[in-house]
Formats: sequence, structure tokens, C-alpha cells
Amino acid sequence: MLKRFKQAALMSLKTTGVSTLVLNSRWRRQRLLILAYHGISLSDEHLWNGSQFISTDVFRTRLQQLRKSRCEVLPLGEAIERLYANDLPDRAVAMTFDDGTSDFHRRAFPLIKEFEFPVTLYLTTFYSYYNRPVFDLMCSYLLWKGRNEILDLKTITGEDLKIDLRSSGAQETARLAIHAFARTRKLSAEEKDALLANLARRTSIDYDSLLDQRVMHNLTPDEVTQLAADGVDIQLHTHRHRTPGDRALFIREIEDNRQSIQEMTGTHASHFCYPSGVYDPRFLPWLDEAGVVSGTTCETGFASRGSNQLLLPRFLDNNTLSSIEFESWLTGISAALPRRRAGGRGSNGGTL
Ligand SMILES: [Zn+2]
Repeated sequence: MLKRFKQAALMSLKTTGVSTLVLNSRWRRQRLLILAYHGISLSDEHLWNGSQFISTDVFRTRLQQLRKSRCEVLPLGEAIERLYANDLPDRAVAMTFDDGTSDFHRRAFPLIKEFEFPVTLYLTTFYSYYNRPVFDLMCSYLLWKGRNEILDLKTITGEDLKIDLRSSGAQETARLAIHAFARTRKLSAEEKDALLANLARRTSIDYDSLLDQRVMHNLTPDEVTQLAADGVDIQLHTHRHRTPGDRALFIREIEDNRQSIQEMTGTHASHFCYPSGVYDPRFLPWLDEAGVVSGTTCETGFASRGSNQLLLPRFLDNNTLSSIEFESWLTGISAALPRRRAGGRGSNGGTL
């Protein structure tokens, strides 16, 4: 209902020229739109999770819209400096990708390069060295792919429970049970990898084919080196995709991540994105101490000079968003319309 109202309102604002007025307004000129993406589908990932993955076609349309709206896509570091210096160009945008799944190399970057836009990749580095599927992502994806099956949990966790995977609620029940099992047993990366292979077998999925395509794998260190040489700005997202509540462990996550990025790219990373969008006021002095100059969240909004530089909001694009809604973010008109909050504070509603 809200969506339909919004579409109609946006269409009428576009027809009356209000969108163009806002696009060129002083209000918009003092704001930076930081776009956030995770993955571009290798095959059907956007059908599994449209907020984590976007189809190649939709992504191409977004890049065309950025160009058509004459948005100025700036490198992230420059955009943040110019935001606080009150020196942004008209229609300023920065583009960011989180995590660094292998599709960035094969799907996202070739398109971004074609449009000659600068891009920042917040890279989590553990899974770059350990080049196997990212456990949380692959587990959830396999349960969705196996949605025509009945999963006997006994064969995975030992629990005496059969789950009909047809509904997304049932898939979530299975996911939670498997995660709890992996956590309480403190499974190693190798053991979790074996669990995924077993889950694929129990849900009749051709796992070798997914491994061959490197679905839900991270970029290899060599790919990261290549991307950096091609101009991709590689930045911090913690080594193991987590933000411990203990100061020393938190800083170690940043340092391990930074050192890995340095080894792969030869550059010193100083911009940070909170894994899973989870942030806490306690983290701010720790980030300062670690020499981090900016932090982005998954809170929805435009960054302004009033934003805390370590808590910059972004706009998480998703596969189900219509072109007119996306355009309303480029113009800034979206700020005047009601919107649903995507999850609670510090949450992006997903696993990454
Ligand atoms: Zn992430």
C-alpha cells in the first residue's frame, strides 16, 4: 500500500518537475548519497535474497540512471572530505560494495569500469585467504535452493526434526538450528565446510557446480591485487566480519584486516564499514585509536555535514526497488517521503 502510494507520488512529482528542482537544490548539494551494494548475481542469488544480491540487468539500469541524472560519482575519500569542507559538486554520490564476494570481479567491476565510475570495496579478508564458501551465506542459500525438499535435521545436527523447506520461515528455522549447532560445537572452518557439503547432499543440490562457479566465495588475494591495480579502492570491513565488544579484540580485527589489505594492494586502508551494520558508541574511540577516518553504517539516509564522520548513513539498493524509487534517492526527493525502516537500529536485516 505504502509502496503504491509512494510510486504514484513520485510519478506526479516527476511530471510536475519537482524532482528536477530538488536534484538541483541547495539541500541536495550539501548532501552526499553513499550507495551500498553487496553482490551482483552470478546466477539466481537475487531471487534468494534481493537485498544482498542484485541482478546484472538491474545493476546496469542503476548505472545508466546515475549517468542520465548527471550525478557526480566521487571516490569515497574525496567525497567525505568535500562533504565536510562544504565543497560537494551537484548531485554527489559515492559507490560502495561490502564484503568482496567473487562476483565483484566477474560481474560488478566490468560494468562499473564501462561507466568509468570510482568504487570502494569494503573487504573482509579471512575468506579471501580461505577460499571456500562463506558459511553463513552458503548455508542460507542452500536451504533456499533446496526449498522443494524435506530436510532431516538428524543428518546434519543430530536433532530429531524433519523440516519441510517450502516456506521461508521453515528455511529460517533450519538455518538457526544449523548456526546454533556450529556455534555450540565451535566448528572449525574446515568442519563448517564439510557441513555445507553434507547439507547440499541432503537437499539434492549439485554442490560441485556451485564450487566451480565460486558462488558465495570471496575474492582471492590475486583478484584483489588486480582490482586495486585497476583503480578499485579497497577499504576496511574487519578480518573475520565481526566487531567484538572487547577493545583489544576489536582493534585486532581492524589491524588484521588492514595488514591483509596492505599485503594485497600495497595501500593503507583507513575507511571502515561496520559488518552487518552493527555499531555501538563504544566502538567510536576504538576506531579513532586505530586511525580510521570514516565509518559507514546500514542506516538509511543522506550524509550531511551534521553526520558523525564515523557513523555515515548510506542507501542500501536492492533488487526489488523500482527505477523511479532509485531515482528519488539520486534527486533527494525520497527524503521528503515516508519510508519503512529496514530492520532495527544497527541492522541491515541480512547476514552481512
Ligand atoms: Zn559485510
